[in-house]
Amino acid sequence: MSTAPARANAPEPHLSPVPSSCYLCGSTRLSLKFKGRAGTPSGAEAFNCTSFGHGSHPPIWACAECGMLFQWPLRSQEELLGLYQDVEDPLYVAEKDNRYHTFRHVLRQVGETRGQSVLDVGAYCGYFLDVAREGGAVPEGLELSRWAAKHARSLGFTIHEQTLAQRAATGAQYDLVTLWDVVEHFADPRAELEAAFQLVRPGGRVCLSTIDAGSLVARLMGARWPWLMDMHLFYFSRATLALLLEEVGFRVLETRNYTHIVSAGYLLRKLSASFPQTAPLMDLARRFVPEQLRVPVNLGDNMMMIAERPTR
Ligand SMILES: [Zn+2]
Repeated sequence: MSTAPARANAPEPHLSPVPSSCYLCGSTRLSLKFKGRAGTPSGAEAFNCTSFGHGSHPPIWACAECGMLFQWPLRSQEELLGLYQDVEDPLYVAEKDNRYHTFRHVLRQVGETRGQSVLDVGAYCGYFLDVAREGGAVPEGLELSRWAAKHARSLGFTIHEQTLAQRAATGAQYDLVTLWDVVEHFADPRAELEAAFQLVRPGGRVCLSTIDAGSLVARLMGARWPWLMDMHLFYFSRATLALLLEEVGFRVLETRNYTHIVSAGYLLRKLSASFPQTAPLMDLARRFVPEQLRVPVNLGDNMMMIAERPTR
């Protein structure tokens, strides 16, 4: 490992076109892994949960020491907060039933939550909160998008329009903190997970999912892996995510694949957007496959990690 301090490279956008050291381990052994690619859409639309902005991203760098992949240059935290506050995403609502199926599957993997207090970070429209409430938990959410927060409140939930750091500063603590497909969006995941650690009571758990850049699919597809996107700033593997969780004080209990359940229509539109050369074929398929057919998607490139805050 490098002797450079791990924090030497806290994100400081606009300083240099080339990162000076690895965000995670501080090593200077960096190389350009994927050249930046321009595309549409841009602005807040590229930051929707259901964004079709595949194949558009700034340059992505790799660390030879720890394997971390990350965008550089990074957007500033202020710019990102503004973009997420402005997100509106009606397509997500149209896929509501499948989101519920995904979250019910996820909740079974999380284990018993009855009677537990839960903070869902990036709660979006409140669907995981609803599933957790069905399971007997007492959930509330953090959500920056005003549109999504309003939607979640309409389901009867307490939604804090706060960052993790702002929520942690209140001294609140929960039995379980969840971050579903969120950590890859943070400009400073270490600081966010440190705040998450403060928000988990000793003995409580954090559960998170993210794309797995170390998976076989990601490695085989290289630059064509569809999750290389503007809104994904950090590309973790099982090893690098565990490293960061343990660094902030968590103890990793379990890692497994994460299964998304989507409609056939949504999947075919995603495939067209990810692989434009297949678009005519996908358009043809949409004429024959029932739009609402439920399809579990698990190529092994989405992972879920469960970790606990030790009692001492
Ligand atoms: Zn590194």
